[in-house]
Amino acid sequence: MREPDDDRADTGSAEEAGAAAPPIERYDDGVIAIDTLTAGMTSVTAGYLLTAPRPALIECGPALSIDNVVAGLRALGMDPSDLAYLVLTHIHLDHAGGAGDIAEAFPDATIVVSDVGARHLHDPERLNRSAAQVYGPLYDDVYGACTPIAAERIRGVADRDTIDLGGGRTLELLYTPGHAKHHIGVHDHDTGAIFSGDSVGVKLPGMTVLRPATPPADFHLEAALASLGRYRERAPARVYLAHYGPVDPPEAALAEADERLRLWASVAEAAYLETLDATGTPPTGTELDHVAETLRRRFHDEVDAGALETDPDAQRRVDLLNDTRSNAAGLLRYFHRRDAGTLTEVG
Ligand SMILES: [Zn+2]
Repeated sequence: MREPDDDRADTGSAEEAGAAAPPIERYDDGVIAIDTLTAGMTSVTAGYLLTAPRPALIECGPALSIDNVVAGLRALGMDPSDLAYLVLTHIHLDHAGGAGDIAEAFPDATIVVSDVGARHLHDPERLNRSAAQVYGPLYDDVYGACTPIAAERIRGVADRDTIDLGGGRTLELLYTPGHAKHHIGVHDHDTGAIFSGDSVGVKLPGMTVLRPATPPADFHLEAALASLGRYRERAPARVYLAHYGPVDPPEAALAEADERLRLWASVAEAAYLETLDATGTPPTGTELDHVAETLRRRFHDEVDAGALETDPDAQRRVDLLNDTRSNAAGLLRYFHRRDAGTLTEVG
């Protein structure tokens, strides 16, 4: 590994990687955030680099913005043989879509993912197909397809498995379903930080509070709340959101995440019940509209009006990642499956 340069781009390396280095932020615990510049916007999705004898990148963002991440890693002095691990909190394309490209650019890196989702990285056809359905035009414009990764490069992990970064630094993987049934959180025992992917929610620039992320296809309320409880038991020194950055103080942020998740679910459930007729049958077509609109009206002030005026990307970021329609669809699917008795314990 070459000596890292300062926070600004190393122009030579950036050119090699085919993109200018994106914004890079170093936190006081040594964690380095590389902005993936997803959708060409800043502060949407972060990749976190943990420097150690065997360095790890946590999340890489979508395929279409992966050149930014590669340029960021190169600017930080990472040669192709340097990256030991890419850890994915889950395989939704805004986190993991570029994993195949990272595997190619860093041929010694092991791709770490929950064993529940591992096979979809080796054979991403189903993952890409369902993403194209869920994301619509964004699939082509913002995310792009995940390319297959050789099975021997993928390490599927179970709850409490660890990764050795060398020099006494260990990452522990916590199985934290709820947002998705294959979600894991990453506990860095060296810094005490937890990297929560989407399991704590999102808080983007311009947002006043944490917003839960409850998308289809397997959002599960009780599992999500239990996962937050597991983080709280760990008393983390910091919580890093994939979208976007640290939330401080961590204990208050985790309490807020719990409270906001319960609130969103109860508002959505009340709206869902309003759509049921006397026989308990939802009217086709209008149910999702009603729940999404109810959530939008109730929670629109989570995006600060002042920020919307000064930052034209503030609303676009939120809509891209976490619009009320996607949250409504995930919550509705959860209510339907719960009421039909087809829910499992985690998804
Ligand atoms: Zn996400």
